[in-house]
Amino acid sequence: MAATHDADVVVVGAGIAGLCAARALHAEGRQVIVLEARERVGGRVWNTEVLGQPQELGGQWIAPYQAEMHALVAELGLELFPAYREGERTYLDASGVVHRYEGHDAPLGEAAERSYEAAAAALDALAAEIDPEAPWDHPRAAELDAITFEAWLRAEIEDDLARDLLRAYLSGGYMTKPAHTFSLLGGLWTIAGAGGVENLFEPDLCLHSRVVGGSQLIPIRIAEALGHRVVTGSPVRSIRWSEGSVTVATEGERVHARHAVIAIPPNLTGAIRFDPVLPPWRLRAEQAISQGSVIKLLAVYDHPFWREEGLSGEGFAPYQFVREVYDNSPPGGEPGVLVTFLAAEKCEQAERMDAAERRATVLDGLARLLGERARSPVDVLEVDWSAEEWTRGAYSATFEIGGLTRFGADLRRPIGPLHWACTDISGVGNMHMEGAIRSGKAAAAAILAAAPSD
Ligand SMILES: Cc1cc2nc3c(=O)[nH]c(=O)nc-3n(C[C@H](O)[C@H](O)[C@H](O)COP(=O)(O)OP(=O)(O)OC[C@H]3O[C@@H](n4cnc5c(N)ncnc54)[C@H](O)[C@@H]3O)c2cc1C
Repeated sequence: MAATHDADVVVVGAGIAGLCAARALHAEGRQVIVLEARERVGGRVWNTEVLGQPQELGGQWIAPYQAEMHALVAELGLELFPAYREGERTYLDASGVVHRYEGHDAPLGEAAERSYEAAAAALDALAAEIDPEAPWDHPRAAELDAITFEAWLRAEIEDDLARDLLRAYLSGGYMTKPAHTFSLLGGLWTIAGAGGVENLFEPDLCLHSRVVGGSQLIPIRIAEALGHRVVTGSPVRSIRWSEGSVTVATEGERVHARHAVIAIPPNLTGAIRFDPVLPPWRLRAEQAISQGSVIKLLAVYDHPFWREEGLSGEGFAPYQFVREVYDNSPPGGEPGVLVTFLAAEKCEQAERMDAAERRATVLDGLARLLGERARSPVDVLEVDWSAEEWTRGAYSATFEIGGLTRFGADLRRPIGPLHWACTDISGVGNMHMEGAIRSGKAAAAAILAAAPSD
């Protein structure tokens, strides 16, 4: 017989969203139990150690606009440090020539620069019309959701380089899907959620700072405060629900509660058996959203050799297999760590290589941007997030063409005692840790509003 526990609210998933929901409910005196499938908390944020120093295998950077994140970091007594970007950046052009440059703007050439600025401004103007909390309410939502981002790029941008750069930034850098597989509205939603193109594409902003000790300290600290209320190693297999009551079962335990917050990405809800089955619109919505593909790779060196050569470690190569690289060294600067991401088509190609070929291809890409010393790391770490059973892709789940207007609002709609949270369905900070915090707090607020005297 499975042991049964009682709570006011059971939370499924101990990522940042689930833990923020539990924290908010606990603060209001509600009995909460959080059930987490993995043996650790944090989901898409995950610390590791490299030569004795913390490093992150998942989400890590915090941007100035992310107000909830800054507040949470302060409340948890954590500190931030600025990402390293002193020195010159490198840009590898279509003909394979490396350019070193200072400041924000890669030397694209006048025509491409003008075209890029105009297209980015056009995207920004459209995004400014979108309410990140309800992109489906835009008067032209259906029309914008029927156009692929690729089609918009081709219709709006004549200059090849400007088009290729914008594609690389949004499709490769955020949506982690090929540009013909998500809609213009989907892309605009992500831009609107970050408060504009600059917040999303400008490294000084989007890659502004990191948590000293690693970003997983955020969920770890919240879970520590919740203590025995967080149970890891407990995949939820079934949820029986009725108006005002829910029983959530793992293999060994059952939690009976009045409400549930299901704080897992929507692509995973189908792995849980609901009784009664969820409404048809909800089941259909889950099939219109899927995770992107990304591998995060860390190359570790005894020293950040690029700094000695006047380089920041930041480089872009829109036409290469390795499209981007950043200095990811810890605050003290030792060891030297470079981070890159293989996303969308690059990820799909990389997954079909064996480990040795993938490593050699990535190190070759790093060497093209930062010099031959990049070929000799002391270690390389990689996580393919599609291979993670309890995530199955990253950075976030996004809709198929037309899906955002057809189903977007449905994914947040409570069903009886069941409430939903996770970054994938959040508005401001969508796709980021910021969105996870907001989404978790919103689910908690909805439960507190619905049952003020529980
Ligand atoms: C490589 C990578 C880089 C990123 N970079 C950044 C960045 O720099 N900045 C940023 O802000 N964001 C970044 N992100 C995104 C950020 O990590 C996520 O937005 C955020 O962590 C999502 O939190 P969440 O709680 O919504 O979801 P998750 O973290 O996915 O949490 C869901 C939890 O539910 C659990 N779960 C799933 N199924 C079940 C089940 N059946 N039963 C019980 N538990 C279950 C999972 O194990 C997981 O712990 C990145 C993500 C990745 C992967």
